[in-house]
Amino acid sequence: MEEGGQMTTVKCSSQIIEESIAVLREGMVRSEERVILWLGRDQPNAYRISEIYEPEQLTSVDYFRIPPESMRALMSHLRKNRLKIIAQLHTHPGRAFHSLADDRWAIIRHVGALSLVLPYFAANTTPKNFLDEAMTYELSPENEWLHVNNQRIEVC
Ligand SMILES: [Zn+2]
Repeated sequence: MEEGGQMTTVKCSSQIIEESIAVLREGMVRSEERVILWLGRDQPNAYRISEIYEPEQLTSVDYFRIPPESMRALMSHLRKNRLKIIAQLHTHPGRAFHSLADDRWAIIRHVGALSLVLPYFAANTTPKNFLDEAMTYELSPENEWLHVNNQRIEVC
């Protein structure tokens, strides 16, 4: 069990998960990482994911970058629709873990934010095994990405 985390439940429909896998796999054909964001609104003790956001991004086999104009477009989208970034999801060419580059280049920076990493460009990920495949990290108050189990994510 994690300690000191916010333990806020993240509620996500299976349709969002299915769409997420499909979008992340677009990188697979080019052997490139891909990053997307789960956006949502606060609910009492829970976040409900309402949409997937795919930022303009520069990608390669082992990294992604979000250029400044893409960050601005994202921020404006969040303001306009009063949404918040709940989680960041990205693929890796190999096994799933939070690399130093991932720590450094994370799009989200608030305590309790989640960062999910999927292995092998999500080649083997299905809505059914999604929670087993994803390695999930949460940003601690000490600004560290700590591995957490996926019980916080509720597929409904
Ligand atoms: Zn990574």
